[in-house]
Amino acid sequence: MKKILVLEDESNIRSFVVINLRRSGYEPIEAETGMEALEKWKVNPDICLALLDVMLPDIDGFEVCRRIRASGSKMGIIMLTAKSQEIDKVTGLMTGADDYVTKPFSPAELTARVDALIRRLGVDEDEKAGSELQSGPFVLNTRNRTLEKSGQRLKLTQIEYQLMKLFMENPGKAMSREDILTAVWGSDFKGELKTVDVNIRRLRIKIESDPTEPEFLTTVWGYGYKWGY
Ligand code: CA
Repeated sequence: MKKILVLEDESNIRSFVVINLRRSGYEPIEAETGMEALEKWKVNPDICLALLDVMLPDIDGFEVCRRIRASGSKMGIIMLTAKSQEIDKVTGLMTGADDYVTKPFSPAELTARVDALIRRLGVDEDEKAGSELQSGPFVLNTRNRTLEKSGQRLKLTQIEYQLMKLFMENPGKAMSREDILTAVWGSDFKGELKTVDVNIRRLRIKIESDPTEPEFLTTVWGYGYKWGY
C-alpha cells in the first residue's frame, strides 16, 4: 500500500482526509505539526506523496515542503491551501510542490488529485528507467543496457555497465572505493576493495583511448575514482 503523509492541524479535516485516502487504498500517515510531519517522514522514508496544510502552529507547510525538497526527495507534494490565499499557490509551487488543492475540497476531488499525481510520478520513474545518459562522447542507454562511444557500441560486462551508470549519473563527483563497492556490488558483498580497482582497470581499457592516461575515468589519489568529463 502506498504511504501518504497527511499534515493537517485541524483534526476534523485530517480525519476526513485520512478516511478518504484509506477508502481509496492508500496508507495515510498522520501529522499534526510541521515538525511531527518531518519526524514521521524520517521513520517512513517510503512515503510517496505528502498532503501539506499551509497554516500550522509551528513551521508552516511551505517550510516542510522546502525541507523535503532540500533533502533531494522526489515524493509527490500537494499543498492544501485556503480559498482566500491565492498567493499560497504561487509560493507552494515555488517551494517545490507539485500541485495544490483549495479548501474546502470534496473527497472525490482530493483522491482524483492524489491518483493523478501518483500516476504521473510512476510515469516519470518509467521514463527514467529507460532513458539515455550522455557525457562527452558516451551515451549509456539504460533500457537496453548498452554503451556507445562516438556512436560505436562497446561491449561491457554487467559490472562494467553498472560502474558506467554510477559514474555517468555522478559526473565530477569523487567516489570512494567503498561507495563504489556498495553501489555496484551491494552492501552484502564481502569482497575486497581491490575488486573495484580491477574492474575499473578493465573498464578503462574499453572506454579510454589511453588507459594509462585516463581522460574520463580518473583516479582520486588515496580515495577512489571520478568521472572527470
Ligand atoms: Ca491549518
